Amino acid sequence: MLSKSFSVQDKLARVHFIIDKEPHITVDKAKCLECESKPCLPACPAENYNYNEEARELTYNHEGCLECGTCRFICPMDAITWSYPRGGFGVAYKWG
Ligand code: SF4
Ligand code: SF4
Repeated sequence: MLSKSFSVQDKLARVHFIIDKEPHITVDKAKCLECESKPCLPACPAENYNYNEEARELTYNHEGCLECGTCRFICPMDAITWSYPRGGFGVAYKWG
């Protein structure tokens, strides 16, 4: 029997988000100015973190969060405040 494999992008296409307007992630951006390695950028599987070199500003998107919790553990500056979204909100897996 043939087994079907899925790429990460295929799997991400199968999740659904129930958006909470109240962010469950906040970042103390002042600390990002002192953060040389910025490990949140490659670590987030949903690519929710970006850094604008010209503006020297971190941007992030709580709405596409997969709730893996990686960013809050990997941040060396303890700049990220993270909690699960409120009940009824957030990511739903195995959608579609
Ligand atoms: S790892 Fe933390 S301090 Fe560094 S850029 Fe990301 S959020 Fe900012
Ligand atoms: S919890 Fe995971 S998916 Fe959500 S922003 Fe952090 S690293 Fe990205």
